[in-house]
Amino acid sequence: DQARAMSSAAAVFDAEQFGDPDQNLTLMSRMIRATRNGDMAMQYQPKLHLASGTYLAAEALCRWTDPEQGVIFPDHFIPLAEETGHIREFTLWSIEQVVRDQQALWKAGHEISLAVNISGSLISDPDFAELALHIATQGPERISFEVTETAAMQNPERALANLEKWAAAGIRLAIDDYGSGLSSLAYLKTLPSHELKLDRAFVTHMASSQRDRMLVKSTSDLAHGLGLEMTAEGVETLESLALLKLMGCDWAQGWALAKAMPLNSLIEFLETHAQTAIPDTAPGAEQN
Ligand code: C2E
Ligand code: MG
Ligand code: MG
Ligand code: MG
Repeated sequence: DQARAMSSAAAVFDAEQFGDPDQNLTLMSRMIRATRNGDMAMQYQPKLHLASGTYLAAEALCRWTDPEQGVIFPDHFIPLAEETGHIREFTLWSIEQVVRDQQALWKAGHEISLAVNISGSLISDPDFAELALHIATQGPERISFEVTETAAMQNPERALANLEKWAAAGIRLAIDDYGSGLSSLAYLKTLPSHELKLDRAFVTHMASSQRDRMLVKSTSDLAHGLGLEMTAEGVETLESLALLKLMGCDWAQGWALAKAMPLNSLIEFLETHAQTAIPDTAPGAEQN
């Protein structure tokens, strides 16, 4: 029947996307082993609070350091983990790590908030929602969950119920990669959230593209109109940084400031970057 035809088409597509099923199995069991032997770890990319010039938050990004292959980035294994269902256990593990690291950070005197990425495929799962909530509320302060817009739309009613439960427990919710999906406005209309993270596609070239600047500014105004804080991802130049501050954007994150780093380096970074001066817009940045 049609459903079966579609699911076998999906299976073929997955096999093409992810290669040999045996190899996938190996990759997944290696991934699980990596979370147990310390080869997998959460790293942290600082987020600059533009009004104060202070790093008040950081996003947790997982890094797998394989003894033979070196660093393996999440884009190489998260999609497969979503496909195979391993993402559930992995995400619970990652929340645990982030809560533990947050305790260490706060003990070291850095009372910043940490965000963890939650795959959209998990948001409609009520058991996951309970477990995640239980782990996430063990730390000194509530952490944030970053959710990607497209995936959460898969089962909007269930997703909505779980997000509301999280929000009620004090977990901050951020809509990740905003603008890269299809139903952005529908999403904003219904989902409880505190922060909007604009996809880096609009941010990276904003200093040289008036069109991009217009999109960033409008999105920032939209976010504020809805009572959300706005984060710009992919800030790769000081020109973008200056423009973002001028526009009233709340948070900036990107390689112009810092890449993701291990917890120890984050502590050092916070100690050496207590105050960050944001440059004025460079003359000539307003071309195009
Ligand atoms: P994301 O949540 O949108 O994370 C931002 C990505 O952009 C990160 O890539 C980060 O390293 C990268 N990035 C940051 N600043 C810049 C910049 O200025 N320029 C450019 N070109 N890139 C920048 P990363 O760490 O490779 O992660 C990719 C995606 O993988 C993440 O996108 C997130 O969706 C997923 N991911 C990462 N860690 C986890 C995790 O622990 N759990 C889950 N479920 N997903 C994760
Ligand atoms: Mg994210
Ligand atoms: Mg993002
Ligand atoms: Mg992303």
